[in-house]
Amino acid sequence: MKITNKIIIEFARELGFDLIGFSEAEELINESEKLKKWLEIGYQAGMQYMENNLDKKQDMKEILPGAKSVISLGMNYYTDEEYSGDKSKGKVSRYAWGKDYHLIIWEKLEQLESELKSIDENFASKSYVDTGPVMDKAWAVKSGIGWMGKHTNVINREIGSWFFITNIITNYEFEYNKPIQDYCGSCTACIDACPTNAIVNEYVVDSNRCISYLTIENKSEITSEFEDKFDNWAFGCDICQDVCPWNHKFSGVTKNEDFIPINKEITSSDLDGLSNKTFNEKFQDSPIKRARLKGLRRNLSFIKV
Ligand code: SF4
Ligand code: SF4
Repeated sequence: MKITNKIIIEFARELGFDLIGFSEAEELINESEKLKKWLEIGYQAGMQYMENNLDKKQDMKEILPGAKSVISLGMNYYTDEEYSGDKSKGKVSRYAWGKDYHLIIWEKLEQLESELKSIDENFASKSYVDTGPVMDKAWAVKSGIGWMGKHTNVINREIGSWFFITNIITNYEFEYNKPIQDYCGSCTACIDACPTNAIVNEYVVDSNRCISYLTIENKSEITSEFEDKFDNWAFGCDICQDVCPWNHKFSGVTKNEDFIPINKEITSSDLDGLSNKTFNEKFQDSPIKRARLKGLRRNLSFIKV
């Protein structure tokens, strides 16, 4: 039996994916050029791994020989909750409030890919959750599940930008979607609201200045230049997405209970007495562990909570 767009859309929806788009696995020539220029300037900050596997990022056939299509999937993680407003607590970015999305999405991708393989044993695929040499946002845009906002997150007209993106590379051919138009228009709300001026140009973020990078991937001290600019963010930052009018108008609540908030805020006392081992145990199912105990303590001390 042949696998069709319709079959994939039905399975993916059953598994809890909200957005599904298909694109041809062509080389991403323009996107690769942009990435190379961004890297040359040094906007990746300490994320040296972003410089790796540029050939694979440009051409999916370097990952899966015979790749013909990319299936882009989006999963809404928005929950209808807010922060306490208590300034003695550090804020955690929305995507990290619940269970680690890697664990959730891996499991669902595995189910989806094995279902498809059971329909046609010739179906071959490869997928990653964040860790692979794949320009996830570029594929999401190509497949029309959203457009790239000026803050560099993908925005969907129905659900805004609070969704995870993952892609499946496959040897199968499908009917392809087209990219949609950019609906940012003359808006500059995200650029104006960024407290560290990290959106250095429309569609260009300098990670060296981005609170998200500075509080998660960054292994160095946070410089005094950013003193009083963190607005109590302890892990990540959502300011540019919070101010986006598309999130005000359209953010619907996720159906996935795994995203029910567990860690919306954090204080130094939550980390009292923890060793690296007990920290990793405490946060083993949370994306927060990515900042490591040392990094999280640094962040909380920087924002004085
Ligand atoms: S995540 Fe925060 S610091 Fe980074 S670009 Fe958006 S508003 Fe600026
Ligand atoms: S805040 Fe405005 S400019 Fe920024 S991503 Fe949203 S619509 Fe685009």
